[in-house]
Amino acid sequence: MMLLQIHEPGETPEPHALERSQAIGIDLGTTNSVVAMVTGDHPEVLRDATGDGLVPSVVSYAYEEPAVGRQALNDLAEFPDFVVSSIKRLMGRGPEDVKRLAGALPYDVVPNEDGKGGMVRLKVGDQILTPVEISAEILKALKARAEISLGHRIEKAVITVPAYFDDAARTATKDAARLAGLEVLRLVNEPTAAALAYGLDTAAEGIYAVYDLGGGTFDISLLKLQKGVFQVLATGGDAQLGGDDFDHALAAWAMRRTGIEGLTSGEAKILLQAARAAKERLTTASGAELKAKVAGHDVRQSIDRGTFEVLIEPLLGRTLRACRQVLEDAKLTAADVKGVVLVGGSTRVPLVRAFVADFFKQEPLANIDPDEVVAVGAALQAKALTQGSDTLLLDVIPLSLGIETMGGIVEKVVDRNTAIPVTKAQDFTTYQDGQTGMLIHVVQGERETVDACRSLGRFELKGIPPMVAGAARIRVTYAVDADGLLTVSAEEKTTGVKSEIAVKPSYGLTDDEMADMLRDSLTYARDDMEKRLLLESRVEAERVLLALNAALKADGTLLAPEERNEIDRVAQKVRDAIAGEERDRVHNSMEELDRATHNFAQKRMDRAIQAALKGQRLDEVEAGMAPDASN
Ligand code: ADP
Ligand code: MG
Repeated sequence: MMLLQIHEPGETPEPHALERSQAIGIDLGTTNSVVAMVTGDHPEVLRDATGDGLVPSVVSYAYEEPAVGRQALNDLAEFPDFVVSSIKRLMGRGPEDVKRLAGALPYDVVPNEDGKGGMVRLKVGDQILTPVEISAEILKALKARAEISLGHRIEKAVITVPAYFDDAARTATKDAARLAGLEVLRLVNEPTAAALAYGLDTAAEGIYAVYDLGGGTFDISLLKLQKGVFQVLATGGDAQLGGDDFDHALAAWAMRRTGIEGLTSGEAKILLQAARAAKERLTTASGAELKAKVAGHDVRQSIDRGTFEVLIEPLLGRTLRACRQVLEDAKLTAADVKGVVLVGGSTRVPLVRAFVADFFKQEPLANIDPDEVVAVGAALQAKALTQGSDTLLLDVIPLSLGIETMGGIVEKVVDRNTAIPVTKAQDFTTYQDGQTGMLIHVVQGERETVDACRSLGRFELKGIPPMVAGAARIRVTYAVDADGLLTVSAEEKTTGVKSEIAVKPSYGLTDDEMADMLRDSLTYARDDMEKRLLLESRVEAERVLLALNAALKADGTLLAPEERNEIDRVAQKVRDAIAGEERDRVHNSMEELDRATHNFAQKRMDRAIQAALKGQRLDEVEAGMAPDASN
């Protein structure tokens, strides 16, 4: 009955169990990004309406809302200064690093006024943005694509990163994910993901090479497969070499042929885009035309594949040199390599395949789309992490390990997903004058408070000589061995007093408990969550007002004038709350409305029952009370 159900506490729908257990795989590329998921038994790339699986890693700030992908690429010609591409190159970089790369990168770096380090900041149109924020836009777009294609929310992902990414770059990637409302189950190395996509984790043990030629970077990795686990033996490559350089070579060739010089950076972007289109056609066609209008010139140049190959040969030579180097670093030869995986859009170029086959003396694996193979591997890993499988890479700790500090707050000592074995130490001090003991409480979990985490053990460091508060230096060391066994020790550094315990971090935690703990650590930005809840409560309040109106129309005569006034007053209050931005107001006014209409609902019930007793069917009476049946 409508009005009796006006207030349904906690009505936000419980997320479906499926949603909680599903995670997507994301290849967050320099040039293109791809999102995939295992549905049923098969990994599937999630595509747009036109069947396109690639999302260009390009963000446009030309309009109020940032645009990502093809839409952003479209803005490029008109508003080149508002469009950012290849932001991955700046992930985790400081202003100093960027100075070193200057010239090679088309970014407008804003100097940090105080000369401090920290994150690079870029001027994009009229905004100043960090790489983390820009990257988060790409991740948001991928998340949205997944949600649209799956029809429900997704909040977890495995994201791939280059094997050479350092801690800062990995952290920046995670931060971007958090900003985008995604919890990172794990960062997986791109070559490892590619190998997983080919099922090499169940292949013969041995050395595998992953040759990844993307848009702006070339990466060569040697993986060693042993007992189903990949280890990155060596990585190498060239951070300034990729398909973009093919475009540059082609554009320069066209400029020479047309006699154009000195393009503005906007014009150069346009010419390069035309060169890229011609290059991509040459992968399947024997000839193509490069067409662009720049600097008052109408560029039109026909090129055949042979000519193009001559232009790029020196670049391919450089990739092979890097391959030789990485083999040398690992003290191996090409003959030691069991299989070669091709990754990256540029490995579509027939000459690239020929070069790789010749170098490793074997046909490379290429039957999975080289643009999509990394995302496919990430999706497989995401499935393994959420639903369990044999292909888990059990080389990281599953939940963060921390220590209780004052006020029941958890200070993380070892972050989740840290590769093991690992040893981390942190210094603490006493908080009371003359304190001679310190209780060390070891906890596991992602939340900020001790109550919300799992207690793994407590022990006491005794015999600290009495000192003033804050004078003792207590170093607490967490050491997790290769089997995931944790030993915690504490030592007072000025006197050398020591104590330690051994705990097994995941002892007794079932997979479900683990999943719950991970879910509870929902990392999407609070604001997003708050916004969503506000939206939901508005929708619900509107639904109730509609039902109330219908009921008043039908049965308003049941009410005494003062009762009616009161209901109208509170209904107006709900309307005002809906127009506002505070969820609490919506919630409270709804509760008030529930109270104000309680009697009315009772009277309607009575009337309905009486009507039924007079021989009418109850469902007819009820139908008359439904909001949509009132007119
Ligand atoms: P990244 O890993 O840097 O994001 P991708 O693996 O998506 O890059 O590769 C992008 C590069 O692949 C671009 O330079 C693009 O022009 C090139 N590419 C994509 N398709 C083709 C094709 N059919 N022929 C040649 N190059 C291609
Ligand atoms: Mg890539």
